[in-house]
Amino acid sequence: MSFNTTSVPFQHDFYPGIDFSSLNWFEKQWAAWYIAIGDPIIATGLMSFIMHEVVYFGRCVPWIIIDAMPYFRKWKLQPTKIPTAAEQWACTKYVLFSHFAIELPGIWFFHPMAEALGMSTYQLPFPSWKVMLPQIAFFFFFEDLFHYCAHKMLHIGVLYKHIHKLHHQHAAPFGLAAEYAHPVETLILGAGTLSGPLLYCWYTRSFHILTMYVWVVLRLFQAIDAHSGYDFPWSLQHFVPFWSGAEHHDFHHMAFTNNFSTSFRWWDRIFGTDNKYLEYRARVDAAKKAMANVSKEEQKKIEQKLMDEVEAEGIKAEAEAEGVKTVKVQ
Ligand SMILES: [Zn+2]
Ligand SMILES: [Zn+2]
Repeated sequence: MSFNTTSVPFQHDFYPGIDFSSLNWFEKQWAAWYIAIGDPIIATGLMSFIMHEVVYFGRCVPWIIIDAMPYFRKWKLQPTKIPTAAEQWACTKYVLFSHFAIELPGIWFFHPMAEALGMSTYQLPFPSWKVMLPQIAFFFFFEDLFHYCAHKMLHIGVLYKHIHKLHHQHAAPFGLAAEYAHPVETLILGAGTLSGPLLYCWYTRSFHILTMYVWVVLRLFQAIDAHSGYDFPWSLQHFVPFWSGAEHHDFHHMAFTNNFSTSFRWWDRIFGTDNKYLEYRARVDAAKKAMANVSKEEQKKIEQKLMDEVEAEGIKAEAEAEGVKTVKVQ
């Protein structure tokens, strides 16, 4: 196909037979971008990478502000563990390295591969939300199952020690830590995000990259929010009980074990890998009931004690996974 970049947009080779007056504002901007760049592979790669950076760091900013404001501390899942500026900056630097060194080449190769399987990029008009919705629902389901299996595997001895341990460096996670992971882990778990769309493309030969973008934006929001360390009364899991949210994943970081899935709670429930989490929740609820007449300070102390117990068990479980012999303290 030849791309004539000198012709005016309304007669461009990219869009033969398209009546531009029938397109909405967003579709016109989309066409203008592809025509301005002239090469769909470069235009798609650039747009995808910029979109990923803007959404990732854009979504982290509110969490950085919330961490800096003591007012929000009452909703912090591990209230004594507020990330320092130095920790957040070190995490940002590593995540940026990972984005440029690992994710950028991945993003760049994904599109030609997906196009070969039938994905549309510059083509217009966009699919309707009725087409996009079931596709995105499938990607959520597929990614969650893939992540559950791969994440559980990453907790096995040698894989944990050399790959996944880096992500567990933060026992009390924060938004920026969502993509703080070893390059091999980024590739393995990233495959769960990309394989759903690739499989869908391969099977149906009908898929638009806009749906991919909506999916990636939702997935980034899910991952960053799950690492935020906050559970608000308005958090999604309080309205959608099978949604994991921060409350579920924070326990995974604090306790090292249990809660391996990303978006939904059902695989952990079905396979029993939420037993310790459920026990902990029951203990916290029982303690809250028992200390109804106790001062707020005392309540905080008791809740902290329960957290410390879980974390101590987690440190032991982590050492066992790595094959480190723990010394029995008399
Ligand atoms: Zn883990
Ligand atoms: Zn995590």
